[in-house]
Amino acid sequence: MDQTPSAPLHVVVFGRPGSGKSSLGERLSAAYGFVPVRTGELLREAVRRGDDLGRRVAEHLKDGHLVPDPLILELLEQTLKDPGHTSLLFDGFPRTLGQVPLLDEFERTLHFQIDAYLDVQVGRAEATARMTGRRVCPECGTTYHVVSKPPKVEGVCDRDGTRLERRPDDTPATIDQRQDVYDRHAGPILDHYRRCEPGKVRPVDGGKPFPAVFAEACAALGLAPPAAH
Ligand code: AMP
Repeated sequence: MDQTPSAPLHVVVFGRPGSGKSSLGERLSAAYGFVPVRTGELLREAVRRGDDLGRRVAEHLKDGHLVPDPLILELLEQTLKDPGHTSLLFDGFPRTLGQVPLLDEFERTLHFQIDAYLDVQVGRAEATARMTGRRVCPECGTTYHVVSKPPKVEGVCDRDGTRLERRPDDTPATIDQRQDVYDRHAGPILDHYRRCEPGKVRPVDGGKPFPAVFAEACAALGLAPPAAH
């Protein structure tokens, strides 16, 4: 049920790979009308299309390394339009301290301000275990999990009926590499926002069952939980 907030909200969701941040983002978008800006998904789409940008980012994605900041800027310049009265939810950006000024610049030129930075906290071992069961729709990007968020029909996307796949970067070595990357970069970014925008970094316990994580995130954003349907 769409309960779009009266004033648009602009939110960044942080969380290590496997923290459930993308599922949380999808649920928040469905419930409150956020337009999701998911750099990982946008990059995978570019690779699937095989366009110029897609060819340049493919190698980085495959081995779990970060895509260089100038390519992320190029990707977002192609994607981000003046949000007007729409709420935006950033998932996967900013991912390095070097991307923080890029977001500042988008806020300035597109006339919006980030209201909150959600920090979905999950331990590395738990996140790694979750990632091995993750399945995604190659068509629309919806994420499932064989145990905690299975599709209605096994192996098939609820939205468009496409056969679900493992992400090519969900191999054990790449999962480890991506956890290392998160551990290296996320702390300094969150410290920066704690220092420069006090009160806007809101922790969410991502180790709880998903409905509790969603409720905690809604409370952290000052959003009334959606009415049951
Ligand atoms: P995700 O779907 O958020 O886990 O992202 C998948 C992969 O896309 C990451 O492992 C990175 O290689 C790349 N990626 C996504 N967002 C960014 C970003 N903001 N900066 C650099 N690389 C990114």
